Amino acid sequence: MRWPSLRSRGRRRVPATFPDAWRRLLRRELPWWATYGPAERARLEALVLAFVRRTRFEASRGFAVDPAMEVLIAAQACVLLVGLELDEFPETRTVIVHPTTVVLRGRRSAGGRLETSAPLLLGGQAHYRGPVLLSWSQVRRDLRFPQRGQNVVMHEFAHHLDMLDGVVDGTPPIDDPVAHERWVRVCTAAYERVAAGEESPLRSYASVGPGEFFAVATEAFFCTPSELRAGEPALYEELVAFYGQDPASRQLACTA
Ligand SMILES: [Zn+2]
Repeated sequence: MRWPSLRSRGRRRVPATFPDAWRRLLRRELPWWATYGPAERARLEALVLAFVRRTRFEASRGFAVDPAMEVLIAAQACVLLVGLELDEFPETRTVIVHPTTVVLRGRRSAGGRLETSAPLLLGGQAHYRGPVLLSWSQVRRDLRFPQRGQNVVMHEFAHHLDMLDGVVDGTPPIDDPVAHERWVRVCTAAYERVAAGEESPLRSYASVGPGEFFAVATEAFFCTPSELRAGEPALYEELVAFYGQDPASRQLACTA
């Protein structure tokens, strides 16, 4: 895939208004762009500009992160915010981009009392009040094939929404106690179905735990919304209520 040559910027030279070059990039590369009306596009543009302005993008292992990559990562993260009363991801200001796979080294738990030091290969990772790590090859693949129902940027930033109340438990902040109770009940039932191996529009990684369930459900909600609505209608409605968007009522531009 060829990326347009956007004018490079220094760390403090983010444009004051949304550049036409960014708009052309998103129109061409972001599957959600064509599904939004003028008001939602304006909201997304404002969110992307603020995200690029406040986020420090770092490249791993000699990789170079260009402005187009920054805009495309910001735009996918900000799709989650379009219908929320939230203008930023307050707990993270750093995105570290790896060229291919994110490789984590060092000792870690392998379950129970077991430990391992084998390298761990990931498409991305979110840290509580810390950076988001992303594999650029995974990001690019997800943009090309949204119908696969996976999006590593949305996955990791969904974790950050989950973290806003201080715990990663698959429940982002929901103030209304009735809505909160319903969310937990619906998500627990859907989680138990996927954990039991029943047929589900969610990939099996959702069964790793409630936190992963919410992140995987978020990916499906935005990437394969019609399938999610057909297979898990109650879960779909909870996500509509939380995110303030109804993606299944729109048509994704990219169906390749
Ligand atoms: Zn995850």
